[in-house]
Amino acid sequence: MQRFEEQARTMLKQARLRVTGGRISLLAVMLRESHPLSMDDASDLCGWKGGDRATVFRNLHALTEAGLIRMVRGAGKRDVYELVKQPAHRHAHAVCTACGAVACVENESSLSSAQAPRGWRVTSQEVTVWGLCPACDRR
Ligand SMILES: [Zn+2]
Ligand SMILES: [Zn+2]
Repeated sequence: MQRFEEQARTMLKQARLRVTGGRISLLAVMLRESHPLSMDDASDLCGWKGGDRATVFRNLHALTEAGLIRMVRGAGKRDVYELVKQPAHRHAHAVCTACGAVACVENESSLSSAQAPRGWRVTSQEVTVWGLCPACDRR
């Protein structure tokens, strides 16, 4: 965990954010887990170090504003947050319709991206694959 906390500290400084214990532990958990986390997951994994839920929520917001993490819309149940890896972190996500788990699809060359209608300027695009995660599929 030490290594991730050091990395988190550096990322906060580079983003010119105030370095607080709560932010360090939140970022460190996201670096360690390396998959999208809901606010509840992040809060649980941080434990007391992350502060109370209101603090975790505010810190997620601050980190999102700073561009260190981004929100991925979940299965209508919960949104999740993931690290923004440099330079561009654009990929599809698979969302479980049963439990709301979100996983990154790192290789999406097989997914065709939709074309915007004529006259539209695309500012962002999200591709979501819906289905059952391995755990729910086994049930
Ligand atoms: Zn599931
Ligand atoms: Zn992702």
